[in-house]
Amino acid sequence: LEWCVSVPKVELHAHLNGSVRNSTLFELARVLGDKGVIVFSDVENVIMKDDRTLHEVFKLFDLIHILTTDHSTVTRITKEVIEDFAAENVVYLELRTTPKRNDSIGMSKRSYMDAVMEGLRAVSSVDVDYSPAGLKTNTFNGSTRKKMYVRFLLSIDRRESTEAAMETVKLALEMRDLGVVGIDLSGNPIVGNWSTFLPALKFAKEQGLYITLHCGEVPNQEEIKAMIDFLPHRIGHACCFDEENWRKLKSAKIPVEICLTSNIRTETISSIDIHHFVDLYKAKHPLVLCTDDSGVFSTSLSREYNLASSSFGLGKTEMFQLAEIAINFIFADDGVKTDLRATFEEAVKKLN
Ligand code: 5GP
Repeated sequence: LEWCVSVPKVELHAHLNGSVRNSTLFELARVLGDKGVIVFSDVENVIMKDDRTLHEVFKLFDLIHILTTDHSTVTRITKEVIEDFAAENVVYLELRTTPKRNDSIGMSKRSYMDAVMEGLRAVSSVDVDYSPAGLKTNTFNGSTRKKMYVRFLLSIDRRESTEAAMETVKLALEMRDLGVVGIDLSGNPIVGNWSTFLPALKFAKEQGLYITLHCGEVPNQEEIKAMIDFLPHRIGHACCFDEENWRKLKSAKIPVEICLTSNIRTETISSIDIHHFVDLYKAKHPLVLCTDDSGVFSTSLSREYNLASSSFGLGKTEMFQLAEIAINFIFADDGVKTDLRATFEEAVKKLN
């Protein structure tokens, strides 16, 4: 595991509210428990439960959102999550989150995202480069801290309407200078229809935003086919594809964000030795190891690398290559890619 920690890594599939530390969730639950808003022991039982079906995971997210959705908490968890990834030697992070509106506390999707940005600027353990134009960092002159790139993806929740999805896309366009680079479609895969989100996703793509979709978490082959035909820039999961969609995916060469622990813990894949990682890896299909929800699934990116290495018999050379090749699939410009490649070159000298 230590070796996996020391390798520089690229994280492309991490949900903000799924990456919150358990200790922070407990602290927040205790405060709301004392106020009588929730029953602390109920929350404790839900958070500590080890294996959850995909369905139960979404119930847990509703609970997490009760604990985290106010401006100051959103700022706090953003700072903590970025610092946790930095401690893992993640050198490039695409963090995704669903902008939330909550009129009762005066929260708009924009003010939610402003709170996220405040959390990013509060990061103190590393220098964060978050502007695609390379203009904005939280760097102090003469800093000797490590540098980390952070970019944001705004998620559309499958419970949302076409209008709400469009609002999120417009917000992403508004926040481009602040490091928002793309749109994700996530949320409970048995809820909502592809046709509801398509207009907003099409518009986003036309405007030059990058798109990644949660695709094939359930065996809805019609939707999977429509999603591949849309040609997103990446997809997440790709667990329940039939032969035909598998072929389509491979010929379209759409990079896949692989979340091993998440797939196993939610029983989307019944056991690691039949995980589609193996087939995609052998076919040299573009793929990247990711955490999904490091808090909810008690994992880390280093653990995911370690798991892949031990489950699929990959040695250090292969694992390093796997980490480095992820640079090709990031939603950032060539300048960032060149800089990241240099970081990996430096690292390989130190690791050998
Ligand atoms: P947030 O967007 O609130 O920061 O992060 C949590 C949200 O991400 C969840 O409410 C859900 O919409 C989405 N999410 C997290 N993990 C998964 C997953 O494994 N599958 C899907 N489809 N959505 C997820």
